[in-house]
Amino acid sequence: MDADVIVVGAGPTGLMLAGELRLGGADVIVLDKLAEPTGQSRGLGFTARAMEIFDQRGLLPRFGQGETLEISPVGHFGGVQFDFTALEGAHFGARGIPQSQTEAVLAAWAAELGADIRHGCEVLALADGFEDGDLAEVTVGTAEGVRRLRARYLVGCDGGKSTVRKLAGIGFPGTEATRAMFLADVTGLDLKPRYLGETLPNGMVMAAPLKEGVHRIIVCPHGAAARSADEQVTFEEVAKAWEHITGEDISSGGAEWVSFFSDATRQAAEYRRGRVLLAGDAAHIHLPAGGQGLSTGVQDAANLGWKLAAVVTGRAGEDLLATYHAERHLVGRRLLMNTRAQGMVFLGGDPAEPLRRILTELTGYDVVRRHLAGVVSHLDIRYDVTDGAGDGENGEDAAGAHPLLGRRLGKVPLTGPGGESDTFRLLHAGRGVLLDLAGDRAVREAAAGWAGRVDVVTATASAADRGAVFAGAGAVLVRPDGHVAWTGTGADDGLGAALARWFGAPAGD
Ligand SMILES: Cc1cc2nc3c(=O)[nH]c(=O)nc-3n(C[C@H](O)[C@H](O)[C@H](O)COP(=O)(O)OP(=O)(O)OC[C@H]3O[C@@H](n4cnc5c(N)ncnc54)[C@H](O)[C@@H]3O)c2cc1C
Repeated sequence: MDADVIVVGAGPTGLMLAGELRLGGADVIVLDKLAEPTGQSRGLGFTARAMEIFDQRGLLPRFGQGETLEISPVGHFGGVQFDFTALEGAHFGARGIPQSQTEAVLAAWAAELGADIRHGCEVLALADGFEDGDLAEVTVGTAEGVRRLRARYLVGCDGGKSTVRKLAGIGFPGTEATRAMFLADVTGLDLKPRYLGETLPNGMVMAAPLKEGVHRIIVCPHGAAARSADEQVTFEEVAKAWEHITGEDISSGGAEWVSFFSDATRQAAEYRRGRVLLAGDAAHIHLPAGGQGLSTGVQDAANLGWKLAAVVTGRAGEDLLATYHAERHLVGRRLLMNTRAQGMVFLGGDPAEPLRRILTELTGYDVVRRHLAGVVSHLDIRYDVTDGAGDGENGEDAAGAHPLLGRRLGKVPLTGPGGESDTFRLLHAGRGVLLDLAGDRAVREAAAGWAGRVDVVTATASAADRGAVFAGAGAVLVRPDGHVAWTGTGADDGLGAALARWFGAPAGD
């Protein structure tokens, strides 16, 4: 065995996963076919929930702007703008952070934790036996020749055209690209910012300053035929499309980078087959509406990492791993739905005008703003942590379920014997947290068999947070990914069963 887990792809998903696996004590090798990172950035930010995920691991200061990144309260759904802060904790995300920077932050973190990140290593083949055997073996092309590597699990984080997905024979059903859209990092131009996009009769455009002297532009002309991956796009073509939509001539400028993308929408039929798992774009592709792709990949990784680490280190059984597909496939399905819906409104041209108007009217209602902000910020995600007690559609409430159950626990200030802390700081180590808010010794003692897997913390929250956030719960069990697995008023409220379900059998069992 060369490692417990081989991660294919050193994009944001693979690097986040590598860090999470190391926090959980798994040996990990990351393989990427590129000799070095490209430095290019499709994404320029991440959603509120992805930002919280980084905060849960103490990574935000590494983005160079202190604890608080610049966030945009106003966002959009399909180009219809509204204030996301209608929902507590929501915003349109951290913006102006090039994907290359996110990757560099995650690569440094994963490497510090001991991940073995190897560039210039292309996965070419997957040996039979991964479906029902006890390992996965890949053939890897390197500058020194072809190598074989074996691990207990292989995770394809190798992007939308995923080789791993194809080699594992996992279907990728969905809809074909219907149009081409362009991006360019343009120089030598003084462009009017159109941060959230502008819909005009001939298409949609966006523009935002990227760095000194460089603007990112997105150009989505109506009627631009979809193109295959091996086709090229030139700055002249992009400038022409820009002029067609805006009437502005930008041909005097230049471009540092020009590329194109599409509205192809697909999702892997299975996120796991035998010893192979998929995460990030390898598992789902969609229109980049609202900047959700990288953010979803990072959350896939945060969901999978601790579970896979617990399985390969023998702390938990395979049934824990099964919850990865159950939880994240559903999230992916909703992601595809929301980005397709946004595409219809944003890019639908004149025929979509009535839809835009109705949506604009609807966003006048607080309940609509809260709902849509939850969808795009990913703060609405609710896992069904109660063994099917919810209805399966984004973990809707089981009758009488505590409102926190399955949801992420937001950042709440806490006071404990160790001083001031908060709910995110408690998750830095990537272990589960049993938060004892009522000073209940029986609760703390019930978790003794999970020492080293679950940190037991006695703390108090403000009266306001105890009511509004914790809704009267005396104790809360938080998974390493920040989602609430159990709430109760005492140890005999099913705490032992919840600990065993999410963290394996207690020591000595
Ligand atoms: C215009 C545009 C704007 C976007 N803006 C945002 C945004 O603001 N916010 C956001 O969250 N998302 C955004 N996205 C989406 C985001 O860019 C992707 O979702 C993200 O890159 C997915 O990350 P990943 O790690 O899953 O895959 P990738 O970033 O595609 O990484 C895959 C890696 O796998 C490697 N690889 C591939 N095949 C092999 C192989 N056979 N062997 C070894 N290595 C291999 C590749 O070299 C690559 O490094 C945007 C996308 C586009 C097109």
